[in-house]
Amino acid sequence: MLKFDIEKRDGIARVGVIHTPHGDIKTPAFVGAATRATVKALTMKEMNELGSQAILANTYHLILRPGVELIKEAGGLAEFCSWHKPTFTDSGGFQIFSLPNVKITEESVKFKSHIDGANFEITPESSMQAQWAIGADIHMAFDHLAKSESYEDMKEAMIRTHAWLDRCVKENEKLAKLAKKNKEPEQYLYAVVQGGTFNDLRAESAKYCASKNPDGFGIGGVFTAEGMDKMLKTVNSILPEDKPRHLLGMGQEPIDIFVGAEYGCDTFDCVGPTRMARNGSLYTNDGRINIKNAKYKHDFTPLMSDCDCECCKNYNRAYLHHLFKTDEITAKVLASIHNEHFVVHLTDRIRESIKNDTFGSFKESFLSRYY
Ligand SMILES: [Zn+2]
Repeated sequence: MLKFDIEKRDGIARVGVIHTPHGDIKTPAFVGAATRATVKALTMKEMNELGSQAILANTYHLILRPGVELIKEAGGLAEFCSWHKPTFTDSGGFQIFSLPNVKITEESVKFKSHIDGANFEITPESSMQAQWAIGADIHMAFDHLAKSESYEDMKEAMIRTHAWLDRCVKENEKLAKLAKKNKEPEQYLYAVVQGGTFNDLRAESAKYCASKNPDGFGIGGVFTAEGMDKMLKTVNSILPEDKPRHLLGMGQEPIDIFVGAEYGCDTFDCVGPTRMARNGSLYTNDGRINIKNAKYKHDFTPLMSDCDCECCKNYNRAYLHHLFKTDEITAKVLASIHNEHFVVHLTDRIRESIKNDTFGSFKESFLSRYY
C-alpha cells in the first residue's frame, strides 16, 4: 500500500505526506502537467528550481509516441525525462474519449491515432500494462468519460468506469506481483471517482471505488468549479480518510485549488497554467493580466514584485511584452516559469495556512485581492 501520513486536519482539509519510491510529496501539492513526458516550454531543472514536487504524464500520448516499450527500455518515465522525483500517469481515458470516431464496447475502446490515423485498441488491462511499462509511481484506473453532462450519460459512464475498475484492480495485482518477483519498484493504483455534478452518482461512485481498496483516488470528470465544493464534500466524506485524493485536471483558477484543498483533496494537476503562459496570460496577486496588452510596453516593474521566480527576479513587464510581441521562444519559457511557480507556491501557501490554522483568513485575503 502507498504510504500516506496526515499531519494536520482542518475540517475535511488536511496536510500530509505521500511517500513514493521516487520521494515524498508534501500535500496539498500542485502536480506539473507533463503530458508527453515534458512540461511544455520548461526543462526538468527549471521545474525543480521553481519548487515542483511531482509531474503527471499522459498514457494515451505516450502510447502513441514514443511508445511505452521505449520508455521502459529507457528505465521508466523518471529516468527517461530526467525527473528524479515522484511521477503520476493519467490513464488517457479523457483524451481518448474526446477523439472523433471512438468505438466503445464493454470490452475495450478502439480509436484512430490523431497523429497518423493508425488503429489502436485499449482495454482496462492494456492500460494497466502500459502504465506499469511507463513506470510512474502512481497510476490512474482506466475510466470512461461521459458523452455529455446529462444524468443518463453520467450514470452510464460511471457504471462502465466501475466495471473497468474491477478489471484494472485485477490486472494491477498481477503486475504488482510480477514486479515484486523481479525486485522492481512498487507502483500504485488510484481508482477514479465519476458522477459529474450529480451528488447521488458521486456518492455511489465514491462508495464503489472505496470498496475496491485502491492506494488512492482520482476525482475525475469535473469540468467547472461551479458546485465543486458540494460535490467534493460528498465524495471526500465517503472516501477513506487515510488515502490520498487527486483532483484530476483542475487548478487553472486559484479558487479551484482553494476549494479543492478546503474540501479534502491532496494533489491537483492542470495544463492551464502553462497553456495560458504561452498565450501571454499571466498570474499576478491582483488577477491575471495579458502581457501583450499595449499598456505594458513602458512598464519597467517586475511582473510580480513579491515573486521569487527566475522571471520576476530578473526581468520586467516591458521586456516580457517585447518578447511576446516579437514571438521569441524565451517569452513562453519565462511566462511558463512564472505561471507554474505561481500555482505551485500558492498550493504551498495553502498547505502552510492549514498547518497554522490560518486557511480561512488566507483564502479570504487572497481571493478578494485576486478576483
Ligand atoms: Zn514570478
